[in-house]
Amino acid sequence: MTDANGKTLIKTKPRTGKNRVLVTGGAGFVGSHLCDFLVNRGDYVICMDNFFTGDKSNVAHHIGKPNFELIRHDVVQPIFLEVDQIYHLACPASPIHYKFNPVKTVKTSVMGTMNMLGMAKRVKARFLLTSTSEVYGDPKQHPQTEEYWGNVNPIGERSCYDEGKRIAETLSFDYYREHSVEIRVARIFNTYGPRMALDDGRVVSNFVSQALRGDPLTVYGDGSQTRSFQYVSDLVNGLVTLMEGEHTGPFNIGNPGEFNMLELAKLVQEKVNPEAPIVYRENTADDPGKRKPDITKAKTLLGWEPKVLLKDGLMMMVDDFRKRVLGDAAEVEA
Ligand code: NAD
Ligand code: UDP
Repeated sequence: MTDANGKTLIKTKPRTGKNRVLVTGGAGFVGSHLCDFLVNRGDYVICMDNFFTGDKSNVAHHIGKPNFELIRHDVVQPIFLEVDQIYHLACPASPIHYKFNPVKTVKTSVMGTMNMLGMAKRVKARFLLTSTSEVYGDPKQHPQTEEYWGNVNPIGERSCYDEGKRIAETLSFDYYREHSVEIRVARIFNTYGPRMALDDGRVVSNFVSQALRGDPLTVYGDGSQTRSFQYVSDLVNGLVTLMEGEHTGPFNIGNPGEFNMLELAKLVQEKVNPEAPIVYRENTADDPGKRKPDITKAKTLLGWEPKVLLKDGLMMMVDDFRKRVLGDAAEVEA
């Protein structure tokens, strides 16, 4: 176990017997891929979700397996379960979804995280928080290291999410310092892949859906803002490595490959549909101008780094999107 500066404090004990794992938000995009990994390696997985942005279909292939359980539950309400590890993902993640009901987004981050940390304390489970690169806000340091404290508007439209995650981190470290809960904190950078919600408004899902339909790719602003995109399998590897390791974090978990939105649109055109035009639309408020993780800490302390290049990852999500975007028409095309 380490403190916030990476200094080793407590060596965690190895686990014996079957690992009982709770995944909150397990029916969402990232959560369902994490459930796949954990169920397939033989852990006993409880997937908990209120299906706000997730969907039962994302984990339907596990229903009926002896080591998988699906619970409809809102993490804002307390729940009593006996588990060894808690991966706490429950929280709407795309700007459209977290701005839909901002007060509920704050409740999910604050009360939901307190409930899960309380459970971790009661049953002595290890707890992993999926925080976000949004804790750095519109960053004045580039690329962002974990030492950077961020530049976040506390009263803006994105604040319910950014500040919600910042207090979730605070709660995690307070439960660690005050109650010795074994915490792990991942700061996730933009992630993409199969099972992203089609309506989530995120840039990769928008561009791929638009290209498949032959619609214009909507670049917000002048398209010069940058992001660094990570394929979902790299993230799942990072989360599991962090959970199993000895360091609390926080750790940046992202792919340092940086692209501006116009470059991304051109790449999607090239890979998915060269006929789809590009159009420019007004950007949203408080949109961070650039974002790129410094992953030195994760590389050094966890031995983790991403492997999938954006051009390859895009191709791995297109089949899933084609089926969902084009439906029956996709079968005819194939
Ligand atoms: P997602 O919206 O697909 O998944 C979130 C899941 O949480 C959904 O299944 C949703 O129904 C569930 N949920 C939301 N509120 C809940 C509540 N009150 N009670 C129970 N379940 C609830 O998003 P995702 O991309 O899979 O993100 C998963 C986690 O990773 C989130 O915590 C998000 O903040 C974090 N994250 C994701 C990214 C990314 O690029 N995907 C980047 C940074 C951080
Ligand atoms: N964006 C865009 N076109 C879209 C959707 C988003 O140009 O159709 C831009 C958006 O303005 C932002 C970037 O893509 O600069 C990433 O947006 P997303 O919502 O995917 O993630 P976040 O802003 O949370 O990093």
